[in-house]
This record gives sequence, C-alpha cells and structure tokens, in this order.
Amino acid sequence: LSFASCNLPQKLLQNIEAAGYEMPTPVQMQAIPAALVGKNLLVSADTGSGKTASFLVPIISYCANFGREKLSNQKKPLSMILTPTRELCIQVEEQAKLLGKGLPFKTALVVGGDPMAGQLHRIQQGVGVIIGTPGRLIDLLTKYDIELDGVSILVLDEVDCMLQRGFHEQVMQIFRALSRPQVLMYSATIPKEVEKMASSMVKDIIAISV
Ligand code: AMP
Repeated sequence: LSFASCNLPQKLLQNIEAAGYEMPTPVQMQAIPAALVGKNLLVSADTGSGKTASFLVPIISYCANFGREKLSNQKKPLSMILTPTRELCIQVEEQAKLLGKGLPFKTALVVGGDPMAGQLHRIQQGVGVIIGTPGRLIDLLTKYDIELDGVSILVLDEVDCMLQRGFHEQVMQIFRALSRPQVLMYSATIPKEVEKMASSMVKDIIAISV
C-alpha cells in the first residue's frame, strides 16, 4: 500500500510528500484505508509509530471533500480530536496544519491557558477540526452554545492516559454531545477500561495492533 493508492485529495498527497513521508508506516497502512471508509477503530500504537498522521490523513481528506461539496459554507466543526494534554494538542495541531496546508481545512485549538473567547471565535468561523483537552472543552461547551452535530469523526488519542488522568466522564459527556460520529481510538495499552469505553460508544469497532 502507498499513500497514492488511497484515493486522497491531490493537495493532501502533495503535503504528505512535502513532509517527507515516502511510505505509510505499519499503523498508517492499517488505519488509513479503514478510517477512510468510515470504520470505527481501536488502535494500539505508541508515540513514534506515525499514529498522528494515521488519523489526520482521514480527517483532512474528509474535510477537503466536504469543503469542496459545500463550497465551505459550513460553520459547524466537522471533526474533533481529544488528547490528554495541552502539549500533545499543540503537536497534533502543528502536524495538522502541515498536512492540511492549502486545503479547505482549519483547526481550532481548545486547551487551557489561552483565553476562551478567542477559541470560541475561531470555532464560530468554521473549522475542520477541534483539537482539545477534555477539561477545557467541557468548560467551553458548558459556557457557550456550540453546535456539535456536524462532528462526523471523533479521535481519542492516548486513551489510556486520558483515563489515568480521570477524564472518563468528561470524554463520555463530550461524546454524548455529538451525533453518532465515527470513532477512532488510540492507546499505547488496551486495558479493560479502554475496551469498555470503546464498546459503550460504538458496537462495531475494529481492533488494530502493530
Ligand atoms: P507519531 O507517532 O504520530 O508521534 O509520529 C512520529 C513521527 O513520525 C512524526 O514526527 C511524524 O512527522 C513522522 N511520520 C509520520 N508518518 C510518517 C511516514 N509515513 N514516514 C516518515 N515519517 C513519518
């Protein structure tokens, strides 16, 4: 499998090449084609495996195709990525901007430490993806009325770490605010609690481990 055989938007393919990604990594080979056809995934992958691009590529592809169809009149967020920490969110956003360059795809970073008003304003302009921590997202959603029914893909990155930090209920609360999104879960380890969370969200989830 190559990136070129994945039927990706041409500009995304160019960005992947420009980033220096010649071949998909093992986790990308398994996760990208499955995610592109709408499967729910529970992926066991470590940092360094290329896991971030394995969920960003399907998200950017979805947003680019959506943007083209609707001529980007869409003001509701199209997807969401939750990670346990501000630092990880910032890293994910950097890679998202790199891979999404020149495409109808904007990002909104929703993490602690930055003013909420700016984050809200950014979301209201219409974004392809919200990248945030569960705590700050709950704060924002509690305070403001943000329409999340357009979120079609939800990524939970480092789920084991999120659960260790006590984010279980917050993640579930965010999930319930969405309307049955495709779910892509990533975790270094897959303890019982992670499996339980997965099955409480979606029935048909495909396990991938590399
Ligand atoms: P991650 O596992 O997401 O933390 O990614 C680890 C590093 O691998 C990041 O710096 C990526 O830019 C890089 N990377 C991701 N996919 C590829 C690829 N297919 N080929 C080469 N490098 C990659």
